[in-house]
Amino acid sequence: MHHIDHVYINGAFVTPHGEELFELFNPATGQSIGQVRLADELDAKGAIAAAKQAFPEFSRSTKSLRVTHLRHMHAAIQSVEDELTEAIIEEYGAPISRARWMAKHAAGVLEDAAVVLEEYTFSRRIGIAEVVMQPLGVAGLITPWNSNAGFICGKLAAALAAGCTAVIKPSEMSALQTAIVTRALHKAGLPPGVFNIVTGRGETVGVVLSSHPDIAKVSFTGSTAIGKSILGSGAQTLKRVTLELGGKSPVLILEDADLSAAVPMAIQAGFMNSGQACIAGTRILVPEQRLAEVETLMIEELAKVRAGDPRDPDTSVGPMVSLKQWERVQRYIQLGIEEGAHLVVGGPGLPEGIKAGWFVRPTVFSRVTNQMTIAREEIFGPVLSIITYANEEEAISIANDTPYGLQAYILSSDPARARKLASRIDAGRVLINTLAHEPRAPFGGFKQSGIGREYGTFGLEAFLEPKSILS
Ligand code: NAD
Repeated sequence: MHHIDHVYINGAFVTPHGEELFELFNPATGQSIGQVRLADELDAKGAIAAAKQAFPEFSRSTKSLRVTHLRHMHAAIQSVEDELTEAIIEEYGAPISRARWMAKHAAGVLEDAAVVLEEYTFSRRIGIAEVVMQPLGVAGLITPWNSNAGFICGKLAAALAAGCTAVIKPSEMSALQTAIVTRALHKAGLPPGVFNIVTGRGETVGVVLSSHPDIAKVSFTGSTAIGKSILGSGAQTLKRVTLELGGKSPVLILEDADLSAAVPMAIQAGFMNSGQACIAGTRILVPEQRLAEVETLMIEELAKVRAGDPRDPDTSVGPMVSLKQWERVQRYIQLGIEEGAHLVVGGPGLPEGIKAGWFVRPTVFSRVTNQMTIAREEIFGPVLSIITYANEEEAISIANDTPYGLQAYILSSDPARARKLASRIDAGRVLINTLAHEPRAPFGGFKQSGIGREYGTFGLEAFLEPKSILS
């Protein structure tokens, strides 16, 4: 059993003032695996005070010193990759190959930020002005459970590269990953107070971060509903905010697509991270004359998708993170049936042969309309909707008819045509015939998928304020 009873404030591991014990679970078994003692409002305020005290000196540190810090942090996280992979499997249930990728990604974002910082110029001339980019102040960084270690490292890397100091509130459901990351980052030897990590509830620690006058910037990844409440509580002090929120991403299969490649790719886009991905391609848009072919291929391909033990290398869909999340996904599957969608594969309940754990049957509905609840709301599980369209205009109109705009996918054998369509889609990222990630390009959402961008120069500038000096 794990017992995590420290938070990290001002360069030291301290017992939190908060006394609540929060139960941690292995989602693959549904069994308790330990407890984490949660920080409270007082701990959050202590962490903010430490970050505030560290800010004046750190904000004036040289670029090369910060590059060195980021490289030390990168090496520190790299050295715990195996331990982190294990924790991601145990407390989150990510299939092993995904868990390995996630642990590597947590280290990789620190090196990526070091490279961006090396190439960045903090001062430029515009007319008679010298425009300097100044760090914003203390940043509050709030992460979700679906990629906790990656978001801690990614947000922290950008904040520190800019010269901000930080207080991190990781997801309370990811305390094992947080403990490993914190121990590793401590060894990187940064000055005390530059970053502080306080695991606590959103309604206590999270609310303090999003409302405290000494927090200049909040970078949040999580649900759209909480993102809106953070925007509201930050308004009183006009905090700068970056919000990375939900999605309902379209996968446009054009009529010229090679379906034998497009259907497996659509499945991968939909079921990535066991469907618990903000960028999951959950609305598959198919030309109506090719629906029958797509349905047949879906059945064939879904037969190869294994949901089950995350440690089995053949597994591609792991469990849902919590019982609550499992129940939510079940409710949507039921809703899809009640709304009259055609169940191609999957359905309610546990996958065949599985008796315990929060596993879902990978599910695909077809003949879905874009007005059905399963096509409009983010399900955050392995449940996909096939929607038909009559022509290209209708395809674009359905793709954009959503409150979200995080990512979109276009699958076609005509790259020029796909590129033209990409320009008409309202989403922060459009992937043409690929599922690749580009860590130097901006990432973030249009509409209710968020505000602002992360990664690369755009992500760095989200922690900076321009100042014009005229002489
Ligand atoms: P969530 O919004 O419930 O929680 C996210 C974080 O916010 C947690 O640390 C939580 O404790 C904290 N929080 C909760 N209430 C708060 C409050 N009132 N004030 C401040 N903080 C508060 O989200 P989740 O369930 O952890 O994650 C799933 C959601 O995250 C999905 O909607 C998904 O789409 C989204 N997500 C978005 C991205 C992206 O980059 N756009 C990436 C991953 C996940």
